[in-house]
Amino acid sequence: MGLFSKDIKTIDDLFTHTLRDVYDAENQILKALPGMAEKASDLRLKDVFEQHLGETEDRLRRLENVFQILGVTPKGVKCPAIDGILEEADDVSGETADEAVLDAALIASAQAVAHYAIARYGALFAWAKALGREECAQLLSETLAEEKNADRNLSSLAEGRINRKAA
Ligand code: FE
Repeated sequence: MGLFSKDIKTIDDLFTHTLRDVYDAENQILKALPGMAEKASDLRLKDVFEQHLGETEDRLRRLENVFQILGVTPKGVKCPAIDGILEEADDVSGETADEAVLDAALIASAQAVAHYAIARYGALFAWAKALGREECAQLLSETLAEEKNADRNLSSLAEGRINRKAA
């Protein structure tokens, strides 16, 4: 999709484009999570990343379901935002020597990813509702709730002990 080709004319087009954007983002996240789990020292944090891996697969299946309902091909379009967030996560974790500080950095990176996803799924859910696509809205709301829950879990893990160990 070229920046000036004006391929997005309607809210339906925007809906499909953004679904493809998050489809690409989820696939990038799926590839990045095993490395994040490996870098984590705290066993609970490792578990959280592994659980996220399973949830990411669920989210991809839900998106494929939405594509099917809409009758459009399930495919991604490049999401430069997630590429940037993951690249930054990789840079910071590569430069962090202390194990506990690295755990704190990994959580902050995972939350940056979650917040991007919450922003996108929030818009997608609202557009599905506006377009009268109730079945799609239901699937998107499941993912949105899951992302918000993951974000809360990361916050409580950070505030509960990881940050204190790092400080
Ligand atoms: Fe994006």
